[in-house]
Parts: sequence; C-alpha cells; structure tokens
Amino acid sequence: MRKTTMETVHELLSAMGADLSHYAGNDIHSRTPITGETLASLHADTPHAVKEKIGRADAAFRAWRNVPAPRRGELIRLFGEELRTHKEALGRLVTMEAGKILQEGLGEVQEMIDICDFAVGLSRQLYGLTIASERPGHRMMETWHPLGVVGVISAFNFPVAVWSWNAALAFVCGNSVVWKPSEKTPLTALAVQALFEKAAARFGSEAPAGLSELIIGGHERGQLLVDDPRVPLVSATGSTRMGRAVAQACSQRLARTILELGGNNAMIVAPSADLELATRAIVFSAVGTAGQRCTTLRRLFVHESVADALLPRLKKVYASLPIGNPLEKGTLVGPLIDGSAFDAMQNALAKAKADGGTVTGGERVQPEGGGDGFYVRPALVEMPAQTAVMHHETFAPILYVVRYRTLDEAIAWNNEVPQGLSSSIFTTDIREAERFMSASGSDCGIANVNIGPSGAEIGGAFGGEKETGGGRESGSDAWKAYMRRATNTVNYSHALPLAQGISFDL
Ligand code: NAD
Repeated sequence: MRKTTMETVHELLSAMGADLSHYAGNDIHSRTPITGETLASLHADTPHAVKEKIGRADAAFRAWRNVPAPRRGELIRLFGEELRTHKEALGRLVTMEAGKILQEGLGEVQEMIDICDFAVGLSRQLYGLTIASERPGHRMMETWHPLGVVGVISAFNFPVAVWSWNAALAFVCGNSVVWKPSEKTPLTALAVQALFEKAAARFGSEAPAGLSELIIGGHERGQLLVDDPRVPLVSATGSTRMGRAVAQACSQRLARTILELGGNNAMIVAPSADLELATRAIVFSAVGTAGQRCTTLRRLFVHESVADALLPRLKKVYASLPIGNPLEKGTLVGPLIDGSAFDAMQNALAKAKADGGTVTGGERVQPEGGGDGFYVRPALVEMPAQTAVMHHETFAPILYVVRYRTLDEAIAWNNEVPQGLSSSIFTTDIREAERFMSASGSDCGIANVNIGPSGAEIGGAFGGEKETGGGRESGSDAWKAYMRRATNTVNYSHALPLAQGISFDL
C-alpha cells in the first residue's frame, strides 16, 4: 500500500530523532504546499517557555565561552557528520514542508554541510590584530570574544540553511543560539534541532544543555526574543516589514542586529552577452524555488539590440517548463507556499497589465495529485518602462523585462529600487563588467558577471544594502558580527607615558 504524505513525514522525522509528541497541540499547522494537506499540528511555546529557553541559552553561553574555539569547532564537525548522514531525509522534509524541488531541498542541506566545514576551519582562525603603539614599551592588540545568546529568526523559503549560516558561526564563536523558525516550517526546524542534539550528545558534557534552543510559534514569539535583554544580537531573515519591526525593537535596547531582508534583483543583458549562457542563467534565477528566493531574478534589462533574439528563446523555455510535484524527478517548478502568495502574484500581474505590461504565463495550473496546492506557470512580463509595481518584491515567479539603450540607464534602473540584495550583468566586454562592479555600478551586496543573481556560495559574505537591511552572513569576515572585540594595551616598560604626549605629573 502507498504511504500517505503524513506517514512519510513522520517516518522522516523519527529517522532524524525528532519527537513531535512534546509539541502535540493546535496552535501551529505545518501544511505541505504540494497538496495543501496538514502534516502536523503543534502547540506554540508559551511566553513563559520562551523566557525559560532564553534563560537556559544564557546559562549555556556562560559555560561554552570558556571551551577553546577549536574544541567548539569539533562540535560543528560532528554536526556536519549528522547532516551528511541524514541529508536525504532532511532534504526530502524541506521539499515536503517548503515545496522546493528535491534537488533544491538536498542543495539546502548541502549548504548546511558546507557552512559547517567553513566554521570548523574558522574555529582555528578567529584572528585579532597586533597594532603598533605610539608609546615605547607598549603593545596593542585586539581580541575577539564570544558575545552571548544569538537570536535567529528565519523565513519559510530557506527553512534550515539560514539557521545554519548563523548558528554554525555563532557556535564556533562561543555563543549559544535561540532559533525562532517560520511558523510555516516548524517540522524541518524540529528535525535540525534533533540532529544538533545528536551531535552534542556525541561531543559530550562540554556542550552544555541549552546551547541550541528552539522556539515554536508565530511572530509574537519572535518578538519576545527580540525584546529580551539577554539577547545581545538578533539575526533576522524575512520580509522588509519584519526587519523594520525587529530593527526598531532592537535599537530601543541598543542590541545588535543582522538583517537579511527582501530583494528585488536585476540582470542586465548587454549587446556582447553570450545569449545561450544568459538564457540558462535567467531561467534558473527567475523560476528556481518557484520565484521564492530572496535572490530570485525579478527584473531583466535587455539591450534593445539583443532583445528580439533573447525574448523568443525565453518564451519558448517558459512555455515548456515542467511544473508539478517537487518530489518527482524532472519537475523544475514546484508550488507556491500558499494561497496568499498566489493572490499577491495575481495582484502584481494585474498592476503590471494596468501599467502597459504584456503578460505571458502567470496562470494557475493544476498538476495531477496537486490537490489544493498553488501551482503557477512562471510569468514573463514585457514592460514599457520600470513602473511602480517593479519597485516591490512580489514573492512569486514574475520576471519583468524592459529594453534599455545605454549601460548608464540600465545601471540606474538596477539601483532605482529600495532593495539592494543581488544583481548581475551578462557581457563579454571587460569595461562594462568592471563598470558594473565599480563604485558607480550596482549598489547591491552581490554584483555578479556572467552568472545569475540567485544563490550564493557560503565562502562569500552574503547580504544586501538599503531595505535589504545591510547584514552580512556566512563567509568572508561575517563571523566578526557574532563576537565582541576588545582592544588591549599592554605596558611592559617601567614608565607610564600617556598617549597624545599628555603630561599629568602628580
Ligand atoms: P516574514 O517576514 O513573513 O517572516 C520571517 C520570520 O519573521 C518568521 O519567522 C516570522 O514569524 C518572523 N516575524 C515576523 N514579524 C516579526 C516581528 N515583528 N518580530 C519578530 N519576528 C517576526 O517572511 P517570509 O514570508 O517567511 O519570507 C519571505 C521573505 O524573506 C522575503 O521577503 C524574502 O526576500 C526574505 N528572505 C530574505 C533572505 C535574505 O537573506 N536576504 C533570505 C530568505 C528570505
């Protein structure tokens, strides 16, 4: 007999050691976008439980900060091993709960494994500087210390990877982590927490209880985390609206934030572009994860000399995109997360039409077995100009296309929107490529050449400017945001010279 979706989910969870019985309840409903069925109903953590969990994390931090950093890295190495062992199960669960195609579900877990590897290396490289002192017989240096409890708030579309970008670094930096995942994806979070606990048990008693805490609940539970004075850093990923609320609450108590908010990413296709390469990059960036990535390509500026060669190709690919069950091999476009995402898409398309846009696709499709899932054909919208609707991030597969004449014009359009996450140019002209990446080029946190704006490798710092929030996570020196810096001056002389030549004789 064929297993039901619910049976499969419960099997996957128990294979990873996650026990839902503690959370039996009726506050939060995990629903699979594949068919709209409810996978599980859970109770939310009470405000009292949230406070207790933060308290446990605070106590854990006080012990963990004294464990040497390379030893802390060993815990993350073990966690990476758990992820390798359970990659298939967790990837499948991500697909079932968030609706992305299985290759992307597995890719998300691979990203977790990669950041663990990065963090293990980092645990031996938390370097500070030695600084030349102006005073004789003195040495200055800076030391990086653990910060405290790191609050992580994450969005539905990367239900597990975003936590790991933050948590893997936070743990090796000597912090504890309290995670409030999206209320739309609690099951994947419970699975990750269970895998982390397995790694912590193998690591032994040096990993204190409470090192990683999970809060199940809606945005009001997130607010409790944001408002708690025991949490010196909140890393929040989600909509710009959420980011504004988090930033205001944290600034009230002068806590730090890392904000990873909405994107509205563009690509410029220049006259010299390799159109074959560009077509593939456009389609992957615009329709991957059904347009529900923060780095999804949403605005395409095509030079008027190549538009008539590129657009028919794109339309042809769009017309034959395999849309359907994301667990099935061959599917490239899975469902939207829910009905409100579908409504937002239809509203945006209506506005684009009213602004003179010509829409191809965008309609609901109902694949066999799709039940109440919201599947759509990705939309290509030829616009006469960059109108107001293009200034908003609509979290759905809509690609607006505008023809441009000069590179200055295209760069100005790239930068015209309030968001500043990712951008790219397809060109084989080195002057154009360098101009795009220069100080007067793209104003985004990510500016790519001959590769789409979507997706990122963990080695680079990830994040964006303006309403995207300015935070940076993952690679490069993003770890510094999870630590506090102390500047130390040591006097090894027998005198007490003051700085700036001040004399203060007693
Ligand atoms: P959302 O803003 O609705 O929710 C994100 C998280 O914030 C959830 O856990 C939610 O419960 C919590 N939350 C909401 N309001 C809050 C508040 N006032 N205080 C504390 N917590 C609060 O976002 P979503 O619909 O889940 O995700 C889609 C959005 O996320 C898109 O805008 C997308 O661009 C963005 N995103 C950005 C990145 C990035 O790295 N820049 C990555 C993934 C997603």
